[in-house]
Amino acid sequence: CRPGGRIVAMSVQKTNKLQQAEKLLHEFRQSSATPLALLHQVANDLVHEMNAGLAVEGGSDQLKMLPTYVQNLPSGKEKGLFYAVDLGGTNFRVLRVLLGGKSGQILSQEFKEVAIPRELMVGTGKDLFDFIAGTLAAFVDTEDESLKLHFGKVRESGFAFSFPVRQTSVKSGIVIHWTKGFKVEDAVGKDIVKQLQDALGRSGHQIVISALVNDTVGTLAGGRYNFEEETMVGCIIGTGTNACYVERADAVQKWEDPLPKSGEMVINMEWGNFRSHLLPRTFADEEVDRESVNPGCQWFEKMISGMYLGEIVRHVLVRLAEEASLFGASVPVKLYERRTLGTPAVSKMHADTSTDLQVVAKVLRQVYGVETTTLEERKIVHKVCDILGERGGRLAAAGLYGILKKIGRTGTAMNGATDRKKTVIAMDGGLFEHHGTYRAYMEETLQELMGSGAAYEVALRLQNDGSGIGAALLAASHSQFS
Ligand code: BGC
Ligand code: MG
Repeated sequence: CRPGGRIVAMSVQKTNKLQQAEKLLHEFRQSSATPLALLHQVANDLVHEMNAGLAVEGGSDQLKMLPTYVQNLPSGKEKGLFYAVDLGGTNFRVLRVLLGGKSGQILSQEFKEVAIPRELMVGTGKDLFDFIAGTLAAFVDTEDESLKLHFGKVRESGFAFSFPVRQTSVKSGIVIHWTKGFKVEDAVGKDIVKQLQDALGRSGHQIVISALVNDTVGTLAGGRYNFEEETMVGCIIGTGTNACYVERADAVQKWEDPLPKSGEMVINMEWGNFRSHLLPRTFADEEVDRESVNPGCQWFEKMISGMYLGEIVRHVLVRLAEEASLFGASVPVKLYERRTLGTPAVSKMHADTSTDLQVVAKVLRQVYGVETTTLEERKIVHKVCDILGERGGRLAAAGLYGILKKIGRTGTAMNGATDRKKTVIAMDGGLFEHHGTYRAYMEETLQELMGSGAAYEVALRLQNDGSGIGAALLAASHSQFS
């Protein structure tokens, strides 16, 4: 990671309040702009880093490009009862799925979701893994009697673990570092599956972890199972962001394994740490980076994903309040408080289509105690949300376009051929799913980047609960018992 970077100064002279705010907004907009030509360069930069990351053990200093040891994605024939634990964002989930043996045939599925207590996110490995194992064991106990009779005592589970891991096999891997506000120091450098397996042992249950998967890999696996074989990429835009894709095994230069280097290999890019100097970083991005638990790291993630969007908006509002008195003569104190503006609130304001922007007014009142605002002021706040949603969506699209370029799925059709080949990108994550316009910005921009007359058609598909179900599917396809 590398602290520091380009800071865009915004000096203005005091004119009238509104003009001043508009001027600041205009400058902010320019400093965060993502014209198509820039996005093409960003994509090229990404391809360059992908190649560098595939060449060296540990990856380049930006992209880890981690081999996942997943060489076979679900075939559709998976059958039986499987579990998954899913740790990676704001919530922790346990799942149970009964697979029928035909593609897309999930006979039943149940899950339980719990918020991760904040102290466990920054505590010890033992406490975190005892909590996870305990939640899974208690969930297994709620199984139907008929399942218990039919499937005996031993259970298999996938483990969706959405942090950078250097995998040593499909069911083992070493934690490299944490992201998204987690910091469980003593778990770093150790096998994450062993830590969970030990905790499961302490719980007294016979549960075997058969697959360790990043959430992007689970999403890709789920996509293959549900959609079509053309699913080549898995991408998450949620609390954090990342992508994985299907690479030719012989293109993974650094892979020195006794396994034959034939066929394909899913690569977890860990694209959140992409730090191209071309990224349009603003003063607000600098602030957010400085205040994070991992300054200098995960620049791309901090510009794109849900954990940071609200904070970026808040920093822009602080500047508008300080330098243009946007919310009156004094700055509302609460505006200086970190994490007061969540991404759901930003999404709500952004989605406000009422002519008088009543939702914006309500959020400002409820969150910051700003009792009265003029329509013009609310328009400015709305615009800030839009500028940042658009920037995130467009940058994410540039990242996906880079991957498509890397695997040779861009370019123009010969002689205007009409039977375009298809590529599907399996998507998941709260921001992609729930933010009103993020997905639309991504889709639009991806089409713009592909260009008219493109040889390939690209579709983004929401793979709901991708990580958890995908982890269960991969546990099934790598089952140690069947
Ligand atoms: C993690 C990735 C993960 C992504 C999305 C990032 O912070 O490093 O492993 O896939 O978040 O959850
Ligand atoms: Mg979801």
